[in-house]
Amino acid sequence: MSTMNTVGRPTTPNAIEHDYKHPTLTGGRGLLQDEHLIFESDGWGKTGVDLPEPKGDGSDLGDLVRKDPIGLPGLSEPEAMRHYVRLSQKNHAIDLAIYPLGSCTMKHNPRLNEKMARLPGFSDIHPLQPQSTVQGALELMDQLAHWLKTLTGMPAVAMSPKAGAHGELCGLMAIRAAHEASGEHVKRRKVLVPTSAHGTNPATAAFVGYTVVEVAQTEDGRVDVADLASKLGDDVAAIMVTNPNTCGLFERDILEISRLTHEAGAYFYCDGANFNAIVGRVRPGDLGVDAMHINLHKTFSTPHGGGGPGAGPVVLSEALAPFAPAPWVVSDGDGFQLVERAEGDAAQAFGRLCAFQGQMGMYVRALSYMMSHGSDGLRQVAEDAVLNANYIKARLQDLMSPAFPEGPCMHEALFDDEWLKGTEVTTLDFAKAMIDEGFHPMTMYFPLVVHGAMLIEPTETESKQELDRFIAAMRALAEAAKAGDVDRFKGAPFHAPLRRLDETRAARQPVLRWTAPEGSNIAAE
Ligand SMILES: *Cc1c(COP(=O)(O)O)cnc(C)c1O
Repeated sequence: MSTMNTVGRPTTPNAIEHDYKHPTLTGGRGLLQDEHLIFESDGWGKTGVDLPEPKGDGSDLGDLVRKDPIGLPGLSEPEAMRHYVRLSQKNHAIDLAIYPLGSCTMKHNPRLNEKMARLPGFSDIHPLQPQSTVQGALELMDQLAHWLKTLTGMPAVAMSPKAGAHGELCGLMAIRAAHEASGEHVKRRKVLVPTSAHGTNPATAAFVGYTVVEVAQTEDGRVDVADLASKLGDDVAAIMVTNPNTCGLFERDILEISRLTHEAGAYFYCDGANFNAIVGRVRPGDLGVDAMHINLHKTFSTPHGGGGPGAGPVVLSEALAPFAPAPWVVSDGDGFQLVERAEGDAAQAFGRLCAFQGQMGMYVRALSYMMSHGSDGLRQVAEDAVLNANYIKARLQDLMSPAFPEGPCMHEALFDDEWLKGTEVTTLDFAKAMIDEGFHPMTMYFPLVVHGAMLIEPTETESKQELDRFIAAMRALAEAAKAGDVDRFKGAPFHAPLRRLDETRAARQPVLRWTAPEGSNIAAE
């Protein structure tokens, strides 16, 4: 009898020999065609649409009339379609398989969300339309604000920030405005940030003009409260703490942290990117948080990646509520209104954070996710996310080394590279080999406090079968690394459309403009 693993293959990892070294003749791979840039297609001199000859000579434009060809290839509809579908096949997608990026909370995006977001009353409206014509959209924003406040136990929310990092900016600007209002801004120049923080935290504090002071971490991966206490004083404007933190652990001393912070006259900014782990179970307002962004695109689904789109509403405590930026929605007997200019108490706000009112499409998807789950469902989101991460930790910890072996984790399983010692395989090599096995790598080398970190976040949307497939692949790779199969890792990925790239050079010297190859007739067309 042959034993099969959950992937449906023989259990020995090497039973199917990898034919690493044979590139195909065309660059295509197993029904996936190699695809060039659209400018490199031979679509010059033809057009995919049949339009009448334009009348007139465009003389309205005077000197500005274009004299050179516009330089766009003309493709037929099937050619254009194939180009983009082929490109899309080169990308990983959450609809294909698990996306175990820690900190990113890449979960399934229900199609219901998409259906709601495409309702014409949400998708075909313009931010400059008269408010009387967009009452439904304003009501939706109001309802979403209500649920964000309810789930966090906070009295106010600024809806307009467009991402988590933008929310951090909003929160710190509200904190700065509050210190300005009390006249303490001159001496409160520091923001305390733990070493394990996401890079956006210190970046935001510095951007707002604060000096960033690092707070140490304990052996068990949490904020060192004694170190924090020693750094708090009347020169501190705020602390920025992520909870659960970026090591995937709950800050046990959170109440003490907020007490000490408030005692020192500072505000507690909580990075809420990990709200997924506690939604429906813990209300940040009860922990003494003054401001917290919620990445709607993480906790409440909505597609994200590649830099957007996102939405990062910021919930605010009583103390910071008057400093919330415009606009916000109010309702009275006459329906819903967008307040564009702060008056009365709220006039202390720092103004607007961006044009218009935020990411409508994300609002619709997030509320759709909330309402389809209900309160019991949202609580289960947190419970399943934590259960899934602990399952991964438990199933891998005999082969790989958990960064914090003591006790359970929250929604992320974090390993270091201790277990790779002596194998010549690095975290990066391991991640590249995962691509060959069909899995998107986990987050690597973050948090910085963990050597060779591998941060795995399965989210609640992965089933046990999917987790078992992932675990089987991870175990097979870990065993291969330990068995000295170094080639498998050093040259990986062998099967991806592109091999190992010079990522440093790509970041330092990005080529953002396509230029026609020398001697080509493309430019002359
Ligand atoms: C994702 C993330 C952020 C930044 O959020 P964006 O929406 O990507 O701007 C900040 N902190 C942590 C811990 C995160 O995971």
